[in-house]
Amino acid sequence: MLKQLEMAHWMLKDIIKTNDVVVDSTMGNGYDTQFLTELGANVYAFDVQEEALNATEKRLDDAGIKNQIFEKNLSKLLTEPSVNLVLSGHEKLSEYVKEPIKAAIFNLGYLPKTDKSVVTKADTTLTALDALTNQLVVGGRIAIMIYYGHEGGMEEKNAVIKWTSSLPQKDWEVTSYAPLNQIHTPPILVLIEKRK
Ligand code: SAH
Repeated sequence: MLKQLEMAHWMLKDIIKTNDVVVDSTMGNGYDTQFLTELGANVYAFDVQEEALNATEKRLDDAGIKNQIFEKNLSKLLTEPSVNLVLSGHEKLSEYVKEPIKAAIFNLGYLPKTDKSVVTKADTTLTALDALTNQLVVGGRIAIMIYYGHEGGMEEKNAVIKWTSSLPQKDWEVTSYAPLNQIHTPPILVLIEKRK
């Protein structure tokens, strides 16, 4: 069976076309940033930790992908398919991304093998989801990988499930994909699609 992250990628790959504007809301080690870039999309990737930007830059460089650290005051919009690494919380994404958004992905929780005190939080995650849903195009999708085994994780999981479950059915399709018989806390994937 597909793992949750593979399923998330599959659902995004299904709709992303060259030059679409997409958001990696939690850059981490840049795995999703690279995946989105290789689909030919214009990627905005966010993280609050400099280590994440450095790790992602290295990953992209190693893969031969041109990228740039995005400066908010950079007035010219990039014209080529591009990757913008933004050292900022995803809750501020509308300050950086002005165009309609085709897709976004979240990997909630903490960056594996690093400081577990830097974790995504319910209120900022919901602010980002609110901004994303406002900018999402019809047919656009958001994939949220909810890791919740850490302290505070359950609260964020509950908040995200409550918020996404209350999106009006006439405009939004909201689905989840998660194993039901595992003893640990495997991630839950929530998928949102704007239907009209
Ligand atoms: N749990 C996942 C990885 C999550 S990485 C796994 O196991 O694969 C989550 C990333 O989100 C971290 O790099 C962290 O620095 C980042 N992050 C935390 N708060 C954020 C925020 N407000 N905006 C953007 N990124 C944030």
